[in-house]
Amino acid sequence: MTDEARTLIEAARKAAQNAYAPYSNFAVGAAVLLSDGSIVTGANFENASYGLSLCAETVALASVSAQGRFADVVAIGVIGGRIGHADTDPISPCGRCRQVINEAAQVGGRDLSIYCSGATGDEVAEHKLSELLPHAFGPADLGLTGNRP
Ligand SMILES: [Zn+2]
Repeated sequence: MTDEARTLIEAARKAAQNAYAPYSNFAVGAAVLLSDGSIVTGANFENASYGLSLCAETVALASVSAQGRFADVVAIGVIGGRIGHADTDPISPCGRCRQVINEAAQVGGRDLSIYCSGATGDEVAEHKLSELLPHAFGPADLGLTGNRP
């Protein structure tokens, strides 16, 4: 495991401790690495309506965007597991999150490294966004940026 992966998975594990997940009891944390080395985290944020729940990745990326840093994303660490269990199998971003991550990738003009882990952080699967969401539709298709990674 690279230092980058280890750092992001640990930050994501800490973020998951603040997950608001009373319905699923499945805590997810995400840590977004920016080009200057800073890290922005998020955790899943559920809602009684279920449909309004937000994934950790989207919470973290919305925070990155609110800081005006959406073009600076270089890597994301994601961990998750059932609350109260030591789940080790890596999770991976859901389809919606892959699309949201792709927005950051195309705006930044780079393929992103995605580090995925279970709640314990012991096993890490490393992917590129282009592997998780090949032939993605994004802002380049709408002429908003020519930066297809
Ligand atoms: Zn998601």
